[in-house]
Amino acid sequence: MIFRILLLFLVIWGLLWLVRKQFADKPGPERTAEADAEDMLVCETCGVHTPRSLTVQVNGKTYCCHEHIPAPKSHDGADDG
Ligand SMILES: [Zn+2]
Repeated sequence: MIFRILLLFLVIWGLLWLVRKQFADKPGPERTAEADAEDMLVCETCGVHTPRSLTVQVNGKTYCCHEHIPAPKSHDGADDG
């Protein structure tokens, strides 16, 4: 009688082990070493190397911060001189 129960436990344990093995074989989330090796981009204004996630992209150009984005050219020549 006790032998049957032990056998049942062994079978259940074996099935659980197989299921866990199946899950372990699957590729995990995409947070690999690739995410750590982030591209370093050069700022168009000051030339500082900045991680891609921290850069600001404007018209296909890269800037390290909003302050370094050149102001849009205005067409009204208001300067006296
Ligand atoms: Zn900059």
